[in-house]
Amino acid sequence: MIHNLEKIFIDKRSVNSEVADRARQIFPKNKIEIVENEPWSEIKRNLTAEEFDRSKKNIFLTPFDGQFFKRCPGSTQKKVLNCCNYHVLNLGSQCPMNCSYCYLQSYLNSPVSKIFTNIDQALSELKMMADTNSHLPFRVGTGEIIDSLALDPLTLYSRKLISFFTQYPKWTLEFKTKSDQVDQFLDLGPSQNTVVSWSLNADYVIQKEEHGTASLNDRLGAALKCIQAGFSVAFHLDPLIYHTNWQENYTELVSRITTQFLPEQVNVISLGTLRFQPEQRHMMKKRFGLNSLVTQAEMFPSEGAKLRYDASLRNEMFKFVYNLFKNNSDRWKIFLCMETPETWISTFEAQPLQKPELKDMFRPLPSIG
Ligand code: SF4
Repeated sequence: MIHNLEKIFIDKRSVNSEVADRARQIFPKNKIEIVENEPWSEIKRNLTAEEFDRSKKNIFLTPFDGQFFKRCPGSTQKKVLNCCNYHVLNLGSQCPMNCSYCYLQSYLNSPVSKIFTNIDQALSELKMMADTNSHLPFRVGTGEIIDSLALDPLTLYSRKLISFFTQYPKWTLEFKTKSDQVDQFLDLGPSQNTVVSWSLNADYVIQKEEHGTASLNDRLGAALKCIQAGFSVAFHLDPLIYHTNWQENYTELVSRITTQFLPEQVNVISLGTLRFQPEQRHMMKKRFGLNSLVTQAEMFPSEGAKLRYDASLRNEMFKFVYNLFKNNSDRWKIFLCMETPETWISTFEAQPLQKPELKDMFRPLPSIG
């Protein structure tokens, strides 16, 4: 995936960073440019569809001046969403892959992808938090505004993070990806407090909506490699997308998972249905046209100011997929991502804290981010 990048801009302040060194080893000279300022920084308005496309192919290696570590956005909507104590560590922004529903289309306004080169500063920020809270089971993910692993062969940040988390066995590091880029850290296993997680979808949806991502086969193959090397894995069937043959296609997806993995080998499975901010509709139509299952979808205003399917369709899809797993084995651990208490009740007839296998994940913890 890194070879799809057209240009690597290196901030003058980052020329001596490890990532800049690796970029010089990996890419030909004509792809690299050292700059004093962020490329296209004169753009001070919302990006056009073309500018957004361009931002995926151009990357800026630069230090980050803000706070790396923060709570998952779901935690700010605790009154309306059940939240699973997730914290995020942002080590860059934008993604080289191109899913039609991607929320970055309404969230990012930077005309270039970024990798933050001051990882050591991020780790010292994390250390301060971890040293005072090492007894609490915090989960930290790196895949909020960038895919955790797609650019990892360039940064190798996975290696630094996995090594760091071995000092804090109660904390969990979670990578989230739609790539199959895992070979660069497998030798660091076993590491049970590193969870490598994949967003999975039906083959049909991947081909239609998740452009430039690894195939379902390759994602599942990478997950098997991680298990063999001693890492935990998790799957996010998210977003479940309604389409004519959704029941058949999601049955096939669940069957691929349940025939290749045992419930004990998969830390947790989360389910989510399609959701996005109303303001990204225009960008999605421009970039993916009206043939997309996402731009065609009938969506309704809902919790967190997002558009979602209506509650009865969401319930039907959740129940259908949940039952596919539970009919295979009661031992699959399943939860709903960023969903309302009402949807939990109608799908599971219980709130997360009433489900023994999910209690630890949803027990409220003090805010540290
Ligand atoms: S892989 Fe994730 S971050 Fe990348 S385009 Fe798809 S949804 Fe967005």
